[in-house]
Amino acid sequence: MSEKSLYEMAVEQFNRAASLMDLEPDLAEVLRRPKRVLIVEFPVRMDDGHVEVFTGYRVQHNVARGPAKGGIRYHPDVTLDEVKALAFWMTWKTAVMNLPFGGGKGGVKVDPKRLSRSELERLSRRFFSEIQVIIGPYNDIPAPDVNTNADVMAWYMDTYSMNVGHTVLGIVTGKPVELGGSKGREEATGRGVKVCAGLAMDVLGIDPKKATVAVQGFGNVGQFAALLISQELGSKVVAVSDSRGGIYNPEGFDVEELIRYKKEHGTVVTYPKGERITNEELLELDVDILVPAALEGAIHAGNAERIKAKAVVEGANGPTTPEADEILSRRGILVVPDILANAGGVTVSYFEWVQDLQSFFWDLDQVRNALEKMMKGAFNDVMKVKEKYNVDMRTAAYILAIDRVAYATKKRGIYP
Ligand code: NAD
Repeated sequence: MSEKSLYEMAVEQFNRAASLMDLEPDLAEVLRRPKRVLIVEFPVRMDDGHVEVFTGYRVQHNVARGPAKGGIRYHPDVTLDEVKALAFWMTWKTAVMNLPFGGGKGGVKVDPKRLSRSELERLSRRFFSEIQVIIGPYNDIPAPDVNTNADVMAWYMDTYSMNVGHTVLGIVTGKPVELGGSKGREEATGRGVKVCAGLAMDVLGIDPKKATVAVQGFGNVGQFAALLISQELGSKVVAVSDSRGGIYNPEGFDVEELIRYKKEHGTVVTYPKGERITNEELLELDVDILVPAALEGAIHAGNAERIKAKAVVEGANGPTTPEADEILSRRGILVVPDILANAGGVTVSYFEWVQDLQSFFWDLDQVRNALEKMMKGAFNDVMKVKEKYNVDMRTAAYILAIDRVAYATKKRGIYP
C-alpha cells in the first residue's frame, strides 16, 4: 500500500490531470473539496439489551451536475478519509459516464459479521434516519457497497418512506427488483468491466478468443466480470482469487461451475481443478488482461515492475497507487481506470432511479443494451482525450470528467 492516505492518493490523480488542463486554481480548489461532510454518532440497542454507539459518515463531494450518488459501506476499517476519497471518485465516475449526478459516499464503522440480522436491521434503519437530513431522491441517492446489499437497501427505502409518510422508491438504488430495483443491476459492474476488457483488447490488437485473463477478487464484480468475459468474449479465465488466495489453470476455468463452488464452499482456493497460487502470484501472471476486483492498493510500487499483463482493467476502486500508475504507464501497460471500468454499476443505478421516478420498468435486454452502449461511448470519449493530450487513460478520464464538472460549475456561477 502507498504511504499516502486514500484521499491524498485520489487528489494526486486529480492534480495530475488538472495540471494539463488550464484549470483556474480557484476552480480546481472548489472541485477538490467535498461539499458536505456529515458525521453521525448513533445508538443501537443490541439483542442482549445493551446499547452500542456507532460512527457513520455521509459525504457529498460535488453536486454541480445533479444529486450526489454513491454507495454505503459497512466495514470495521471505515474512516472519514476513505469515505471522502470514495465520494471524490464518484464525482468523476458519474461525469465520465455523463450521468446527471454528482458524487457521494457513506460508511458505518462496524463489523457486520458480528451482528445478528435484527441488529443489522436496527443499525441500518437508525443510520439512515440520522443521514436523512441531507439525503433524498432529488439530492443524494445512496446504493450498496462493500457489505451492504439489496436487503439493506429495502430497509433504507422503507425507513425513509415511513419517515416521510409515503413510499419513495427513488431514494436508494440496488433495491430488490420486486421493490423498484432494476433488472440487470447485480451483474452491471461486471458487465461494464467486460465491455472495457473487450475494447482494451481491440486497442491492443488482441484476439479475445485467444486471450487469457486473471481476476483478483471473486465477489460481485469479479464473478460477473469473469463469467461474462469467458461467456461473451470467449476468453480464457486462467486465474481467480479471493481473500484466502487464488487458483490457476492455464486451460481456463468453467466460470459458472467456479461460481457455484464459491457459493457452496465460501472460497475458491480448494477448487480441485486448479493449482493454488497466492494473490501476489496472481497479479504477476503472464496473462493478456488483469482485472483487480478486490481492494484498494493491490498494484503498488513494490509489484508494478513485475506485472506482465498487457492491460489492467480496474474492477475495484483505487486498486493502483499513483506510483504504480507511473511504472505501468512507462512500461506501456494499458490501464483502464476504475472511474471508467467499474462505472457499469452506477450507470444501471441511474437507470433504476429513472425507472423509479417514472414508475415504468425496463426489461433486461433494454438495460443491457443501454449499459453496453453507454460504456462503449464513454470508453471512446476517453480514448479521444487520451490521443489529444497524449496521456494515459486515467489522466484522460479525469480530464474528460473535470472538464464536464468545471463547465457545470462555471455556468451555474458562484452563489450568491
Ligand atoms: P465483494 O465483497 O462482493 O467482493 C470482494 C472480493 O474480494 C471477495 O471475493 C473477497 O474475498 C475478495 N478479497 C478481499 N480481500 C482480498 C485480498 N486481499 N486479495 C484478494 N481478494 C480479496 O465486493 P464487490 O462489490 O465485488 O467490490 C469489489 C471492489 O469493486 C471494491 O473496490 C468496490 O468498491 C468496487 N466496486 C464495486 C461495485 C459494485 O457494483 N459491487 C461497483 C464499483 C466498484
